[in-house]
Amino acid sequence: MELWELYEQMGLSRAVYERGEAALEALEGRFRAIDRTAEYNQAKVLSAMQKNRIGANHFAATTGYGYDDDGRDRLERVYADVFDAEAALVRPQITCGTHALATALSANLLPGDEVLSPVGAPYDTLQEVIGIRRSPCSLAEYGVRYRQADLLPGGGIDFAAVRAAMTERTKLVTIQRSRGYAARPTLSVAQIGELIDFCKSVKPDVVCMVDNCYGEFVERLEPTDVGADLAVGSLIKNPGGGLAPIGGYICGKKAYVDRCAYRLSAPGLGQEVGANLGILPAFYQGFFLAPTVTAGALKGAIFAAALYEGLGFPCRPAASEERSDIIQSVELGSEAAMLAFCRGIQAAAPVDSFAAPVPGDMPGYDSQVIMAAGAFVQGSSIELSADGPIRPPYAVYFQGGLTWHHAKLGILLSLQKLADAGLAEL
Ligand SMILES: *Cc1c(COP(=O)(O)O)cnc(C)c1O
Repeated sequence: MELWELYEQMGLSRAVYERGEAALEALEGRFRAIDRTAEYNQAKVLSAMQKNRIGANHFAATTGYGYDDDGRDRLERVYADVFDAEAALVRPQITCGTHALATALSANLLPGDEVLSPVGAPYDTLQEVIGIRRSPCSLAEYGVRYRQADLLPGGGIDFAAVRAAMTERTKLVTIQRSRGYAARPTLSVAQIGELIDFCKSVKPDVVCMVDNCYGEFVERLEPTDVGADLAVGSLIKNPGGGLAPIGGYICGKKAYVDRCAYRLSAPGLGQEVGANLGILPAFYQGFFLAPTVTAGALKGAIFAAALYEGLGFPCRPAASEERSDIIQSVELGSEAAMLAFCRGIQAAAPVDSFAAPVPGDMPGYDSQVIMAAGAFVQGSSIELSADGPIRPPYAVYFQGGLTWHHAKLGILLSLQKLADAGLAEL
């Protein structure tokens, strides 16, 4: 049986398949560059695992306090080496990316301090952590003030506004690498480095923290390579490689990471406690696979942009743009088209492919939200998924794919559903 015949059995027409093949032809050079980055990052991870002499004995489970957990401690040194950082905290006790970021912020900010976002409003969940939206236990309740410098209309950094927003109380600058669900562009690692240099030129002792969610392994360098004091992210995104079922990481200068460990467990205990509960094989193997998994997700994002741009749908970033995260948005223009797109992503999933996503209410959103995901790890967004609020311009945010070939099929099936409903002209 030919491949397209196999795909036909899965609901994909020959016409959509051919359209995909045509879009792919122009992407060969991009894909080669992505593979070279993945090879580079794979070498970084391998080298760190070898340097730290990881052995089969380091996968052993610990329970209770977790004192002297060598497997856990070595994993943290592997992360620190890959991120070119002095120290790392990598724990299943960090429940998600927001928790990792909240830990890093609250550990390094004290009453009277100010925190500055020089890249506009931070990710939704961080707004409650900081207290931009009133929330119990927010930093605002503890007397930490927030300032913000918005990006320029074109998406560039407004250095004059950043300088004006920095005061003698500015203790920490929080820089979000990925656009998240905002309309602004994602920052490259080089741009982050420039921004950090600028902030430190204004106030040399300011702590620069980067929300690195969705950005890990997209480039050869990480924010900690270009001066970030802390880089923070989630293990159910890129660095977990799809295998980590929970967790978060904080990498950076030892003094700041130590404080994060004291905040996460307790003052005086810090990094010494925290049993691994048998999760280390997934953390190690996921990190080992992460460069390749991220490359697959990146190819999927670029393929989606190329395919949908070719059909006249605005895509952000554009197919030809350089990338620094794995998020792709496609403006579909109508609720019906969003539903069709998400049904296609769902139909391609290895798990729950038979489910039909429908819009629903979500806490924190003023419009209904639709989500498609058929994932091995609930909520994992390094696995193929699509979501978006049902409101103009009716954009779906698309990300992940543990393998490029799965991402490709998901994108093709999304177009199939649009074509079947008469919402896209092939
Ligand atoms: C995912 C994400 C977070 C954290 O979200 P969690 O769902 O708590 O893991 C924070 N910032 C950005 C930019 C993200 O993409």
